[in-house]
Amino acid sequence: MREGQRAATGAAGRRWPASRGTRAGASPPGTGAFALGSGARGLFTGRPGGCSAGPFAGLNLSAAVGDDPAAVRRNRDLVLDQVAPGPAWLAWLRQVHGARVVYVPGGGWPPGSARAGPGGDGGPPADAMFTDSPEVALGILVADCAPVLLADPAARLVGAAHAGRAGLALGVVPELVAAMTAAGAQPGRIRAVIGPAICGGCYELPAALAARVSAAAPGSACVTRRGTPGVDLRAGLRAQLRRLGVRRVSDDARCTAESAELFSYRRDGTTGRFAGLIWLTA
Ligand SMILES: [Zn+2]
Repeated sequence: MREGQRAATGAAGRRWPASRGTRAGASPPGTGAFALGSGARGLFTGRPGGCSAGPFAGLNLSAAVGDDPAAVRRNRDLVLDQVAPGPAWLAWLRQVHGARVVYVPGGGWPPGSARAGPGGDGGPPADAMFTDSPEVALGILVADCAPVLLADPAARLVGAAHAGRAGLALGVVPELVAAMTAAGAQPGRIRAVIGPAICGGCYELPAALAARVSAAAPGSACVTRRGTPGVDLRAGLRAQLRRLGVRRVSDDARCTAESAELFSYRRDGTTGRFAGLIWLTA
């Protein structure tokens, strides 16, 4: 068992809110909670449970991968149940592998910016968001890219980012830290959790592309298990956070490509997405 798994297991049960219970026939989602300071909670969902079938079985949370929309809605309801009590809705983004950050108002996306209700069905095109409201849980969808959760409970701010190869190179996490700092957070106070993502041993890229990512995100270059050029998303993200003064960084260090309980696009191609979620508690 790796370090991050020990941390996740150790924190579970101690900090995790009691479940309200879920619908019959579906296991509750979630793999554990992390030290985000009192006033904020985070969660990484997994694959088991849920209502999706075929290549999306079972707790697929993405409405953009070809799954039955009704199954996705039911799965999102299960997650909304799991983050209770507190958030009344889940905010999702239309993730585009960019570095745009948006503010999420507690009452829902502004009219015209998205179709979103309880359980959400989309959001503005962006790859990071933050909020100061306990009304909403922020959800980032992934299947190999890293979900990154940030909290400054003292400032009553939480944020979440979708950081794959492109997001790492474009600096989506630094953009999120900057936006949260402008809203009152302090980097030295921020706690960060980097969720499950493809590991450097598995993430092979063409040499020229790996070199470009490494140039944009120093510290991310690695050699894969096959001895080829690769990108270590986690190392690159940690380096970015460290340079910004965010030093309290935890990991759920599971590799998506090596973990059957997580969706992995590299491993499976057509597949679902799990989520990293973060929210403020009252
Ligand atoms: Zn791996």
